[in-house]
Amino acid sequence: VVVAGAGLAGLRTVEQLRDRGFGGGITLIGAETRPPYDRPPLSKKVMAGVIDDTSLPFDPGALGITARLGEAACALEDGVLRTATGGAYPFDALVLATGSEPVRLPGPGAQRTLRTLDDALALRALLRPGLRLAIAGAGLIGAELATAAVAAGAQVTVVEYAPAPMLAAVGPDIAAVMTRWYADSGVDLRLATGVSSVEDGGLALADGSWLAADEVVTAIGARPRLDWLDGSGVHTETCVLTTERLETSAPGVFAVGDCAAYLSGRYGRRLRFEHWDIALHAPEVAAANVLGGSEVFDPVPYFWTEQFGRMVQYAGLHSPSDRLVWRGDPAEAKFGAFWLDADGRLTALLAVGVPKDVVQARRLLLAGRAAVDPDALADPSVPVRAAALTG
Ligand SMILES: Cc1cc2nc3c(=O)[nH]c(=O)nc-3n(C[C@H](O)[C@H](O)[C@H](O)COP(=O)(O)OP(=O)(O)OC[C@H]3O[C@@H](n4cnc5c(N)ncnc54)[C@H](O)[C@@H]3O)c2cc1C
Repeated sequence: VVVAGAGLAGLRTVEQLRDRGFGGGITLIGAETRPPYDRPPLSKKVMAGVIDDTSLPFDPGALGITARLGEAACALEDGVLRTATGGAYPFDALVLATGSEPVRLPGPGAQRTLRTLDDALALRALLRPGLRLAIAGAGLIGAELATAAVAAGAQVTVVEYAPAPMLAAVGPDIAAVMTRWYADSGVDLRLATGVSSVEDGGLALADGSWLAADEVVTAIGARPRLDWLDGSGVHTETCVLTTERLETSAPGVFAVGDCAAYLSGRYGRRLRFEHWDIALHAPEVAAANVLGGSEVFDPVPYFWTEQFGRMVQYAGLHSPSDRLVWRGDPAEAKFGAFWLDADGRLTALLAVGVPKDVVQARRLLLAGRAAVDPDALADPSVPVRAAALTG
């Protein structure tokens, strides 16, 4: 078995193959020279200066695998994976776990991104009182970086194309709450503002104005790199397309993590998430199916983000038409918000500082969309599990 991509999803695939008793050869191919490491802490504890190293436990000898780090897969043909350094790896099964890469803005000026440990260490070294930092994008990474940068005394401006932060993920009501977090933290958040180009010394904005900056960080999203799969028989659109069993259109080729969109029976469509939880769990299913199983990957999506001193957790998947039920006051340090569909069934929740509500709601979501009593949900003194209606 060959695994392309030595991030969390690639490493987990290797571990799962061994945990499931596979005794054959495994080669793990990773473009980065570093052994596998975790990314969520890069914009949190690493950026805050609390830790420098996010390595995942990795012992190729104990796993009995061949690790080829610093080698990028560059072509796939006739059951052989080729790498840019001239390697050729025949396989019976291949798992694609190549993640995604930050999207960049147009323009000749210097722009940084935050994807790798080296990106994080270099960026952290620049943070200082008075630094004029412009961040393009008020998503998860933009918000977390802004949090660390203001704590370091930087003057932070975040430019967001949409009318609110994280709008697509959390909807307008929660996004309005998040907008206030920026202001309360002293971050200048400019909404509905496009960037025309990155120039030396700042950003040329779409409205014709100029934003001066000492450093520019682009955090407008990430996309899988797919050009190397051209002609391979692996069907791609903006990502690698898989079945519910995480198989691609090419025989014996599977895909997991950020690079893949899987067919979800639960939601009736293909889904791609850049969520740590997906990279952790999809490899369990991929490994089982590489070994001849027929397991289905269909989780309740989950992500968290730590921004402006708050732990934010989201589970499920809501539609814009779902009804929102608040649990507690969103102006307070702790609150929740639940989405219910037209039949009164729970579709998703977002919780700030109340992890126990998340645990209970995830159980309800996993069990199938439970009908819930909105009044009970709205009352923080009633446990979330007790809001489920039975019968
Ligand atoms: C700064 C940051 C903060 C985050 N915070 C959160 C969070 O708070 N909560 C959350 O849920 N998620 C978070 N995420 C998302 C989460 O980290 C990702 O979903 C997860 O890392 C995806 O794992 P992966 O293994 O699929 O991809 P990756 O981690 O991207 O690993 C893929 C690896 O494959 C390598 N590769 C790429 N192309 C090739 C090739 N052709 N050949 C060989 N190797 C290749 C890459 O170099 C990379 O090392 C964060 C991500 C970042 C960047």
